[in-house]
Amino acid sequence: MGRGSVYNVNKRNLIPEETCRTVRTVFSRMSDASLRFPFPYQPYSIQEQFMESLYSALDQGKIGIFESPTGTGKSLSLICGALSWLRDEEERKRQEAAVLLAEPGVSPHKQPSSASRCSPHSPSEPGWITDFVQKKAKRDLVDKLKEEELRRKRREERLEQIRHNTGLHYAMKRKKSDEDLEAVQLLQRSQEMITSEGGGLEDRDEEELIVAEYESDDDTKKKQNSYDDEDDDLEEEHVTKIYYCSRTHSQLSQFVHEVQKSPFGKDTRLVSLASRQNLCINEEVRQLGSVQLINERCMEMHKNKQSERKAPEDEEPRKRRGQRKAVCPFSSPAAMQTLRDQALAQVRDIEQLVTLAKQNRACPYYGGRLAIPAAQLVVLPYQTLLHESTRRASGIKLKDQIVIIDEAHNLIDTITCIHSALVTGAQLCCAHSQLTQYMERYRSRLKAKNLMYIKQILYVLESLVRVLGGKVGQNPKTQIITEPGTELQSINNFLFKAQIDNINLFKVQRYYEKSMISRKLSGFVEKFQGGTVQPINKENRSTAGLERFLQSIRPGAAPEVPSPDQTGGMEDGQPSMASPMMQIEGFLFALTNANKDGRVVLHRQGSLAQSSLKFLMLNPAVHFSAVLQQCRAVIIAGGTMQPVADFKEQLLLSAGVGPERIAVFSCGHVIPPNNILPIILCSGPSGQQLEFTYQKRDTPHMMDETGRILSNLCNVVPGGVVCFFPSYEYEKRVHAHWEETGLLARLSAKKKIFQEPKKASQVEQVLAEYSRCIQRCSQSTGPLTGALLFSVVGGKMSEGINFSDDLGRCVVMVGMPYPNIKSPELQEKMAYLDKTMPRVGGVSPGKALIENLCMKAVNQSIGRAIRHRGDYASVLLLDQRYSRAGPLSKLPQWIRNSTQVQPAFGPAFAALRKFFMEKKTLSRS
Ligand code: SF4
Repeated sequence: MGRGSVYNVNKRNLIPEETCRTVRTVFSRMSDASLRFPFPYQPYSIQEQFMESLYSALDQGKIGIFESPTGTGKSLSLICGALSWLRDEEERKRQEAAVLLAEPGVSPHKQPSSASRCSPHSPSEPGWITDFVQKKAKRDLVDKLKEEELRRKRREERLEQIRHNTGLHYAMKRKKSDEDLEAVQLLQRSQEMITSEGGGLEDRDEEELIVAEYESDDDTKKKQNSYDDEDDDLEEEHVTKIYYCSRTHSQLSQFVHEVQKSPFGKDTRLVSLASRQNLCINEEVRQLGSVQLINERCMEMHKNKQSERKAPEDEEPRKRRGQRKAVCPFSSPAAMQTLRDQALAQVRDIEQLVTLAKQNRACPYYGGRLAIPAAQLVVLPYQTLLHESTRRASGIKLKDQIVIIDEAHNLIDTITCIHSALVTGAQLCCAHSQLTQYMERYRSRLKAKNLMYIKQILYVLESLVRVLGGKVGQNPKTQIITEPGTELQSINNFLFKAQIDNINLFKVQRYYEKSMISRKLSGFVEKFQGGTVQPINKENRSTAGLERFLQSIRPGAAPEVPSPDQTGGMEDGQPSMASPMMQIEGFLFALTNANKDGRVVLHRQGSLAQSSLKFLMLNPAVHFSAVLQQCRAVIIAGGTMQPVADFKEQLLLSAGVGPERIAVFSCGHVIPPNNILPIILCSGPSGQQLEFTYQKRDTPHMMDETGRILSNLCNVVPGGVVCFFPSYEYEKRVHAHWEETGLLARLSAKKKIFQEPKKASQVEQVLAEYSRCIQRCSQSTGPLTGALLFSVVGGKMSEGINFSDDLGRCVVMVGMPYPNIKSPELQEKMAYLDKTMPRVGGVSPGKALIENLCMKAVNQSIGRAIRHRGDYASVLLLDQRYSRAGPLSKLPQWIRNSTQVQPAFGPAFAALRKFFMEKKTLSRS
C-alpha cells in the first residue's frame, strides 16, 4: 500500500490487517500496463517505461528526476502516468472506506472486535481507556468518511449535470447546499464580497490611505492567535491532487490541450491558475497595465469590502454620503460558485476559463482559486508554486500532494531568481521621498507605533542610499558616484556596513505585512500624483508637471508627491512603478535570510540612480525544502535534465532529502539511432586545432577555420543549418570578420543567411522568413539549398523553438559556452558550493558548476533539432574539449551513445556526407 494511505488510519492500526490485504489484492490485479495507463494511441516502449517509473515514484513518495527528450511525447506520458496513479489512489481510498464502512464492527455504536486485535495496547493504560479511545477514533473516522462520501457524491452529481446541461445554466438555479456554504466561507476568507452598488475606481477615500493602528508582535500575540484560529476554522479539505507547473503561459496551455486530447480529458477536474494580469476581467483594472498596479488595485478592493464587513455600523452613514468604497463587480459569491463548478466540469485552458468567466460575470482569478480544493489537477506557473507567500496567498496546500515541475532544466536558476531581489538608488530615493511626504501629510492622524515604524523605514532607506554613496533628498540622476565598483558582502556585514544592524528587520517585515504600508503609499502617490491612475510614460510625462503645479495652487492643496520619474526611477518605455517601496520591501525581506544562504551585491556605477543593491540567493534549497517536505512526491521533469548532479546536490541533498528517496529516470529518443549523427570535431579542414578559449577564439585563424567548416557543411547538408555561438558579441565579431573576408558572400551562394535578432519581438518574423526560405528552396532546383541561421546559446532561439525536419538538419555549436567566470556573483556561488558541498571525483563543486552550466546550455541548444520519430539531424560540436570525459558524460544519453569523436575534419566530413546521402536515398525510395 502506498505511503500516506487513507487518513493514515493504518498508522493507527484501525483497519484490520485482513482488510488491508483485500485492498492490496484488488490493486495487484491491475498491474497490467495497458489497463493501468489509458493512452490515446499505442504508446512507444519508452513512454510505457516512463509511465511505469512515474507511477511507482508517486506511489512510493519519491523525489523523481525524469528526463525524456523533446519529441518523445513526454507531456502525454506525464498526464497518463500521473492521472492513472491518481485514479488508482482514489479508487484505493474508496475501497478502503467502503470496506471500513461495511465492517459490522465499525458501527459508531459497536466496537469492532478486529480493531482491538490490531490496536496497540499500552501496558500502563487500563484496558477500558484504550477501548474508549479506539471507539471514539473509530466513530470519528466513520463520521468523516460518511461526510466526505456524501460531499463527493454531491459534487460529482453536480458536475455531471453541468457537463450534460452546459447551456441550461443549471448551476445558477441550484439550491444552496452545504458545500455552497463552504464556498461562501472560502470567499469570505479571501475577503471577497459583492455589492451591486459598488463605486467606481475614482471613489478613493483618503481615509483608506492611512495605515491602521498598529500593534507590535508582542502586543498582538494573543489577538494573532485568535485570528489564526479563525482561519483554521475556515479551512476546507483538499482532495488528493497533482499540481503541474511549467515555465511559460504557452507551455501550460499546451499541457492543458494535451489533457483535453488524452483519455482523461472528459472527466478530470482541472483548474488553471495564473496571475491577475492574465486573468482579470475588470477592464478598469486591466487597463492599469503593470502586474503590480493590477494586484494592488484588486487587493485594495478586497480590503474595502473587508472593512465594510468589519464595521457595519459605519456603513450606513458612508452609504448615505455616497462614499461607498470601490469593490470589484465580478466578485459575486453566487457567480463565482457557478464559475467554480463549471470550471471543474470541463478541462479548460486559461483563455477558455476567461471566456467562461466573462459569460458568468465572475472573476476567474478567484473563481480558479475556489476550485483548487476539489480539483484533481491544478495547472500553474512556476512562481505561484515555488514562492511560499504566493503559494499561501493562492490557497495552495502541498501537504501530501503531488507536484510535477516540468521544463525544469533551469529550476535552480528559477528558484534563485524568484528569491533574489534588486533595488536601484533611484527607487530608494523615490521611496524615501514618497514616505516622507506621506508622513508629513498624515502625521497628526498616525498612531505612535506607526510613526515609529515609518521613521525606522525612512532611516533604513537613508542608510541604504548612503551605502551606495549618495544622499536622500537630492535628484539621484545628478548624484555622481565617486568610487564606482562592485562589492559583495555577507548579509551580516552588509547590515553592519549600512549601519542598520541594530534594526530588527523581522519586526519591520511584520510591520510591512500587517500595515500594508507599501500599498497605502502607492495609493497615496496615485491620488496626489495628478489624480490619475495612468502610469507616467513618455506621452503624459510632459503634463504631469502642469498637473502638479495646478494642484499646488489649489487651496488646501495636496502635497507634491514625487513620482519615480522625478527621482529617476523611470525606465524608459516601461510603465512607471507606482510603488518602488514594494521592490524595497522584497529586498528587506530577503535580508532576513540566514547569513550563509545569501550575499548582497553593491553595484556602484555612474549616478546614484543607476547604482543598485542586489540580494543574491546562494542556496535555493532553503526555499525548495518546504515543497519537498510537505509533498507526498515531487517530480522534476524535462527534455534535457543532464547533468543531473546539480539538481541532486544543490536542490535535493542540500534540502535534507535522503539519497534513497531520489529516483532518476532517463530514457532514450523515439528515433532510430541512425537518425542522429553527433560529431565532436577536434580540428578543421586546414588542420587548425579547434579550441575556442577566450584567448584563441578571436584569432583570424580560428574564425577562418570555422568559416571553412561551415562552407563545407553547406555543400552537403540539405535544408536548414543552425549555428550556435557562445554570445551575441562573439557572433557579431565573427560575422563582421566573415563579411570582410568574403566568406559570408560564399556562404550566401549556398544558403540564405539569417541572424538571431536581439529583440524578442522580431524573433517570430525572422523564424517565419527562415522557414519560408527553406520551404522555397526545397521546391526549387536553384543553387540555394536552404538557409543558415546564426543563433546564440541561451538566446531567444535556444529554448522553446523547434527546428524540426528541414528547419534544422544540422546544428553546429561553435566552442563551449562557459559562463563568465570573472562575474563576482558566479565566483561567490562557486565559493559557496566549495564550502558547503563535497568534491565529486576529485573535482571541486565550484568547477563542476561551471562545466554543468556550460553543458546544460549546450544540451538545450542541440536538443532543438530532433522533434519527432521520423526526424533526422546531425550535431557538430566544434571544440576538442568536448571529447574530455567530463563534458562527454554530460551529453544526453541518447546523443552520447552515438557520438563520434573525430580528430580530423576529413573523416568527419565523409561521415556527414554519407549520412545525408543515405537519408536522401531513403526519402526517394
Ligand atoms: S476580483 Fe478579479 S476581476 Fe476583479 S479586479 Fe480582482 S482580478 Fe480583476
